[in-house]
Amino acid sequence: MVTINENYLKLKAGYLFPEIARRVNAFAEANPTAQIIRLGIGDVTEPLPAACREAMIRAVEEMGDRASFRGYGPEQGYEWLRQKIAEHDFQARGCAIDASEIFISDGSKCDCGNILDIFGDTNTIAVTDPVYPVYVDTNVMAGHTGPANEAGEYDGLVYLPISAENHFTAQIPQQKVDLIYLCFPNNPTGATATKEHLQAWVDYARQHGSIILFDAAYEAFITDPSLPHSIFELQGARECAIEFRSFSKNAGFTGTRCAFTVVPKSLQATTSDGSCVDLWKLWNRRQSTKFNGVSYIVQRGAEAVYSPDGRVQVEALIRFYMENARIIREQLTNAGLQVYGGVNAPYVWVKTPDALSSWDFFDKLLQSCHVVGTPGSGFGAAGEGYFRISAFNSRENVIQAMERITAKFRA
Ligand SMILES: *Cc1c(COP(=O)(O)O)cnc(C)c1O
Repeated sequence: MVTINENYLKLKAGYLFPEIARRVNAFAEANPTAQIIRLGIGDVTEPLPAACREAMIRAVEEMGDRASFRGYGPEQGYEWLRQKIAEHDFQARGCAIDASEIFISDGSKCDCGNILDIFGDTNTIAVTDPVYPVYVDTNVMAGHTGPANEAGEYDGLVYLPISAENHFTAQIPQQKVDLIYLCFPNNPTGATATKEHLQAWVDYARQHGSIILFDAAYEAFITDPSLPHSIFELQGARECAIEFRSFSKNAGFTGTRCAFTVVPKSLQATTSDGSCVDLWKLWNRRQSTKFNGVSYIVQRGAEAVYSPDGRVQVEALIRFYMENARIIREQLTNAGLQVYGGVNAPYVWVKTPDALSSWDFFDKLLQSCHVVGTPGSGFGAAGEGYFRISAFNSRENVIQAMERITAKFRA
């Protein structure tokens, strides 16, 4: 018989979202008239910006004409898109990133997992707790961990707890770690990193020869002008960081699929005999071999994000979600709850009241308010006692949900 990759057997069953669905379905069956509002899922709700839609329609027409038809594009993405990204997202913010260092892909989730292809198997890996589960599970699949314990923590990973006590920014470890996953603005806590905090990470990485895998999927939600949008705004980051970006959350491309990864040409790692290798070359080779590029139509849609109309429309989308976040923060605070995040991120991270567990609070909110959120413990052991509310929803749903919660909790 054929053998399998047994690392998959170490994975804790995809527990969080199926368990949420199970509890919501059970409740809905028992209470068929309840109007359930879902503020749990990290998916956008508003339609694509018109500029993106129009650009994609034009691209479809081009594909229908022999003269302008396109077959395979460059595996790294079209030059016109990479150029616009380099200019608008990086050079305009003072980051020395060249278009050739940008690799277009069909998603940040896959890039975060695929990046492990170019690293060795003996690296020490650090993640925050709570964390976006993709970073952990892809390392488990790649055989970089031992089994999980009762709390769901995998042997061999370094967990950096984040909580209200450290303002949801991990303490920089005393020990040396090789790969560090950072996500700012953060999913699930909605926390952000100051320039000083990120600079300390970059300095740590330079000192220890580590590499930071920086997930900036939510950078567009930053409202505080003093906060960095890219890790490449920090001194020395070109020598120690890879950045993941996506059009999913800013332009609503979760179902359209386009993202990119920045691998500086100055970034190096070593072979087992100590010689230095450019990671750009490895990632370029990896993508050229295993990936055939993002659809021409979708890349034209992504390009339109940088057009004058596209920029205005994307800003309006972000403002819409951030107004939801503001309402959620204000109303939950009125209800007497302690809230974090939601100022530079579309997630509000709530301390559960009366020392309720994350799941007990989930049940309470579902049963008494018919509102669904995400238990913090689903993102890691240190998320216990917290709860995530997403601002991705219609204004009506957000207002309704908040009215129900304030009515229930203020009383
Ligand atoms: C949504 C999200 C992404 C983006 O994933 P895509 O595959 O590009 O849709 C990346 N990182 C985090 C933390 C996210 O929440």
